[in-house]
Amino acid sequence: MKVELESTIICPNCGHQKNELMPTDACQFFYECENCKSILKPKEGDCCVYCSYGSMSCPSIQENAGCDDNSCCT
Ligand SMILES: [Zn+2]
Repeated sequence: MKVELESTIICPNCGHQKNELMPTDACQFFYECENCKSILKPKEGDCCVYCSYGSMSCPSIQENAGCDDNSCCT
């Protein structure tokens, strides 16, 4: 199964879009919008900013189809 590493993050504050490469070894919890400089954090229940604001879920989610035990985030 191919894991997609590219995700387009859409800032919920200003709508700015940016293509990012997701790290495969960890979840990214904070993301600074380069346009409005606001710090994005995952929504409740999401393990990383890509799951909340990206066009793709993070690699851990894609591989495990979920990380309910937060194993991908430690
Ligand atoms: Zn922004």
